[in-house]
Amino acid sequence: MADFDITDAGQFEHFGTESVGDSDWITGQHPMDGLLRGERLPHIWCQGCGLGTALTTFIGALQWLEAEQGWDLDKVSVVSGIGCTGRIAGYVRLDSFHTTHGRAIPFATGLKLANPELKVVVMSGDGDIAGIGGNHFIHAARRNLDITVICVNNFNYGMTGGQVGPTTPHGAKAVTTQYGNFEYPFNLPYLAAASGASFLARWTVIHARRLEWTLREAMMYPGYSFVEVIAPCSTSYARWNPEGRGLDPEKLRRRGLELMKHYQNIGKVAHGTHPKDAAIKVDKEGAIVEIVEGVFSNEPKPDFQSAIDEQAQVARERWQAAKKMLNERSQIPQRTDIIFRTEVQLGGFGGQGIVSAGRIIGQAAAIYDKLEACFTQSYGPEARGGAAGSQVVIASDPIHHPHLIEPTNAIIMSQEAYTKYVPKMATGATLLIDDGLVTLSPDQRQDLKTYGISATQIAEELGNSRAANTVMLGLWTAIIGAVSKSAMQQSVAKAVPPKTVEVNLSAFEAGFKKGLRYQVNNTL
Ligand code: SF4
Repeated sequence: MADFDITDAGQFEHFGTESVGDSDWITGQHPMDGLLRGERLPHIWCQGCGLGTALTTFIGALQWLEAEQGWDLDKVSVVSGIGCTGRIAGYVRLDSFHTTHGRAIPFATGLKLANPELKVVVMSGDGDIAGIGGNHFIHAARRNLDITVICVNNFNYGMTGGQVGPTTPHGAKAVTTQYGNFEYPFNLPYLAAASGASFLARWTVIHARRLEWTLREAMMYPGYSFVEVIAPCSTSYARWNPEGRGLDPEKLRRRGLELMKHYQNIGKVAHGTHPKDAAIKVDKEGAIVEIVEGVFSNEPKPDFQSAIDEQAQVARERWQAAKKMLNERSQIPQRTDIIFRTEVQLGGFGGQGIVSAGRIIGQAAAIYDKLEACFTQSYGPEARGGAAGSQVVIASDPIHHPHLIEPTNAIIMSQEAYTKYVPKMATGATLLIDDGLVTLSPDQRQDLKTYGISATQIAEELGNSRAANTVMLGLWTAIIGAVSKSAMQQSVAKAVPPKTVEVNLSAFEAGFKKGLRYQVNNTL
């Protein structure tokens, strides 16, 4: 291309007037021709706008990644929202998506999760990313989703006429804040850092080369990378603010150039700055007086997809173990006797193993006796000492309703549970109590068959008071007979900590023997 003086307005007159057919973009003469959609040019941006430079650095970074890192640019996607910056998605010759306002990041999230091989870049404006899409911005950072977010910040909603936005400096003017912005702006790198992002950078477009290098780095970063690009809005923002005021209002290009010069003068390159110290400084009039630039953070950590993969691996292993257990279950001979719907209510207080005991019964029935079983549980508000209950339904036939209707038997290990559950038991049901902890009420239901055992005391004598629930399970197995003794023993051995298997099996045996004696004597 011919040499020209960029300060001479005459050199720019052909922009916006040249016919598409004559453009360099489709004659193959421009070095970025391959990555620009010539048919979409000329672009819509104002003269002096910083977006052209932002796009140039982005394309330069992509070309470098292709040439030097072997990137396949067919696997790079660009997503933008609405606004002047949003047009970039339409100008790059990549798979690109121009989405609704503020929704570029959710769209990119779906794209990346559906096709993790893609490198997804979101390139949009400050209003789109930090205003309307602000919630998506922080949550993608929190998840450390492996995308690159490039936010071109021109300090206002430029395309719609220059309204105040979430990054408009305090005191600066916009078309909707003619007396100065009374709100305070986001410090975007600090917001991203606080949300969890660990690659953070900022450059003005005047530092084009360093911006391009940073964009290469950001796109290669394994996780959420965020680059803020400060670009002059020569038309909307510069019109109202000291940096652009006083220049010939007819020559928008010059306002852009003056802003670029201003950014060059006030830019302070300081890599590694803590983002909280990187707020853009303004004077009393709202004029920007310092912009800290550089790469503030580059500390990779596990990204969203690798966290999912890790958890998926754990789930796969658990599923394999469950499948193995089901295979083992299929080797067990089918019981020939019929077990009619048996509803078991277990009640006590937290810490007694009431929930564990219910689970042991359910697993014994379902896994080791090949019956149908449903198990549910409920807790009081406290973890230990509060009310605890669990329920099990057992039957030979499929169970269509998993909850208890009228318990046919119950294991009760606290006075509170006795008061709560016994009135709900079916007529003629069987009640098993730890008689060291539960006192039968004087008006106790006469229709119930009640059996007691000093389960806690027996467990203490065996050396582990926490095996009291297993004593009750032994008693239950002998008296109720819905689940076989061997199934219960296997389930107990599988459920308790390995070093307590022996004491628990002894506790079970003690309860079972007591139950057999009851069977013989048929008395309490
Ligand atoms: S309105 Fe501002 S940001 Fe938009 S194209 Fe014009 S100068 Fe650029």
